[in-house]
This record gives sequence, structure tokens and C-alpha cells, in this order.
Amino acid sequence: MSKPNLPDEILGAATLAVHGGTLRSQFMETSEALFLTQGYVYNSPEEAEERFKSESGGFIYSRYANPTLAMFEERMRLLEGAGAARATASGMAAVSGALLSFLKAGDHVVAARALFGSCLYVVQDLLPRFGVTSTLVDGRDIDAWKKAMKPNTKAVFFETPSNPCLDLVDIAAVSKIAHDAGALVVVDNVFATPCYQSPLKLGADIVVYSTTKHIDGQGRCLGGVVLGSEKFIKETFHTFYKHTGIGMSPFNAWVMLKGLETLKLRVDQQTANTAKVADALGALKNQGVTRVLYPGRSDHPQAELAKRQMQGGSTLVAFELAGGKAAAFKFLNALKIIKLSNNLGDAKSLITHPATTTHQRLKPDDRAALGITDGTVRLSVGLEDAADLVRDVQQAVKAAVA
Ligand SMILES: *Cc1c(COP(=O)(O)O)cnc(C)c1O
Repeated sequence: MSKPNLPDEILGAATLAVHGGTLRSQFMETSEALFLTQGYVYNSPEEAEERFKSESGGFIYSRYANPTLAMFEERMRLLEGAGAARATASGMAAVSGALLSFLKAGDHVVAARALFGSCLYVVQDLLPRFGVTSTLVDGRDIDAWKKAMKPNTKAVFFETPSNPCLDLVDIAAVSKIAHDAGALVVVDNVFATPCYQSPLKLGADIVVYSTTKHIDGQGRCLGGVVLGSEKFIKETFHTFYKHTGIGMSPFNAWVMLKGLETLKLRVDQQTANTAKVADALGALKNQGVTRVLYPGRSDHPQAELAKRQMQGGSTLVAFELAGGKAAAFKFLNALKIIKLSNNLGDAKSLITHPATTTHQRLKPDDRAALGITDGTVRLSVGLEDAADLVRDVQQAVKAAVA
């Protein structure tokens, strides 16, 4: 395998997303090779002994590492500006693995209440079973973070923007509070994507992604990735990773590598489309739409923070229809192009009604605390023509108020 040299100057994200991390075999293939192999052979027992001793000079077993995964991990590492990365089987393998790799009984975690459903399970149900207690706070409230810290707080965990109502957490401010308390900061950066937010540069210690979302971006494979300092990934996370078998399949890593090549192009276009759809919905205020939540709009409650820590508004918009569940269902049934699905980050525009799907399990009070009403819908905007999407939501709002 050879590693093509990239020039020394600091390269842009689009260049890194195409060339970063590439390893070429003796055939000098243009497109990254897919290494569907479980193991690796050694020329001699001496070589095998050496390989096991350092684990750095080559591959041993694909549960530990694989050349296709290594390319994807290096490309992600460069994009994120991290010390090292490990690719996981799913976003949840990344989240649960990142937390379980360093927490132990007696530790305490503080997390934002507005979390992806499965992340909430990990923090609220799974970790406490192993003696790791947790406190949930309103992620927007800096004082709440301060008050929740305890002497045994070892991790702070949040997503920003959050699912589904696109609340923001001030990464720099919360990182400072966490570090003063001696805790590591883990950020789920799925909604912002590596294109629009760099949590490590703002003070976070560990970044996790579900690469199932924008990084694949075309609805094919599940995957995840954990990024952090070289010390954390290689000394703490890698041991947990290789012994628990949470790694990504080489086939999925190959799909994700190809996804990264077009990530910026797709996310920029989807974001431009989202801004147009959000503005069209905003223009329907008092005509069927009561609230539009989009970090790229000046009427977002945390617009100033969005400007400060994000480079783009994201490809998701949440909004509320007047008339509760009945109006929301009428709206969803009237859509012609946008598809009903709880997934996000896809080339196809996907929409979901959180109160009856992803957040159905929550008590009404807990839903209300997250800003999810019966009229709330979350739209993940895709790569269709913006004008078609705008017409689709306009005609569906009309149908909902009829
Ligand atoms: C989808 C998602 C996850 C989980 O990822 P999977 O790949 O489905 O396991 C975690 N966090 C956020 C914010 C997500 O959107």
C-alpha cells in the first residue's frame, strides 16, 4: 500500500474530502479499494510476533482495523481536525462506545435533555444500570449546566442543533464548565455535519457522528465514527472498540468514503434548499404555520449563537402547524414529493411527525419540555429542485388549513 503525498499547505475541506486518507495498492487504482477480508497473513512467525507487539506496523484482524476503514477514518480525521478516528457499525455504536469506553461505576454524566431517542436510552437507562448516574438539563441554559456538575461528573454529552426542534448548545461555554469540573465533552455533531461545525475547535474533546445520515447521504448503509485526540482514541477508545466488536463493515466504510467525496456539495445544496423552504414556511405564519425553527433564520431563538458557532444553517427545519395532530396529518398526507420517513440527511426530502413516531414513547410533559407539540413536524431537506419543494409544502399547508 502506498500513501499519495498531499501538499504541506493547509488544504480546504472539499479537497480533503476527495483525497484525504487515500491508500493505493500496487495496482494504483483511482477509486479507493474495498478490502473484504477478515484477516491478514504474515511472512514469518517473527513478523507476526512483531505485528502483535506494536499493532502499528500493519493489520492483524478486521475487528481491530482494516485498510478500507483506515482510509475512511483518516479522511474523517482530516476533515474534523482530530488526532485520530475510529469507524463504528452505526451512530449508536459510536455514541454508546464513546461513553462506555471511559466511564465506570460511580461516575456521573450531565446531558442535554433534547437528545436523539436512543442516546436518551443510553444516558437515562443503560448507564445507570452500570452505576453511572446521569442528570438531564435544558441544553440552552448555561446556569443549568453549571448547577448540574458534581465532583464525580466525568462526561458531558449533547447534540447541537438538537433533534427534532433544532435547539442549540453553546459548545465553547459548556466545554469550559465541563473542563473546570474535570469532565470530558462529547458532542453528537450529526445535525451540523463536519461542513458547518467543528466542536473540537470550540473546546469539545470527542465528536461522534451517525454517518448513516449526511456522510452516506443516499440512504444506503448504517455507520458511525468517533473522533478525538490521538491519546484518547488510541489508548482508551481503541481497546474498548477492538474487544467489543463495534467496528464498521469494510463495505460500509467504502460507501462512506465515496459519500465523503460529495459531502460538501450535497450539504451546501441541501442547506440552500432548506433556507428557501424555511422562508416559504415563514411567509405562511398566521396562514396555517405557527412557528418555524431554522438555525439559519434571524427569528431562530438562538440566531446569534448559530452565527457564532455554525458556518451554515443545517439541512433540517422544524415547524408547527396550527390545528395540532389533525392538521399535521392532513399536511403530511397532502405532500406529493417529500416522503414520510424518520431518517434524515438523505438526498430525498424526508419528513416526520415526532409526537407520534420518534418521540411517541415520551410522556406528554417531557415532549412539551422539548418543544414538541402535536402540530410539530421535522423536515430533512434533500437535493430536489428547491422550487418543487417550496410548492409541495405550500400546497400541503393549504390542504391542512382547508
Ligand atoms: C441517527 C442519529 C443517531 C444514531 O445513528 P444510527 O446510525 O441510526 O445508529 C444518533 N444521533 C443523532 C443526532 C442521529 O440523528
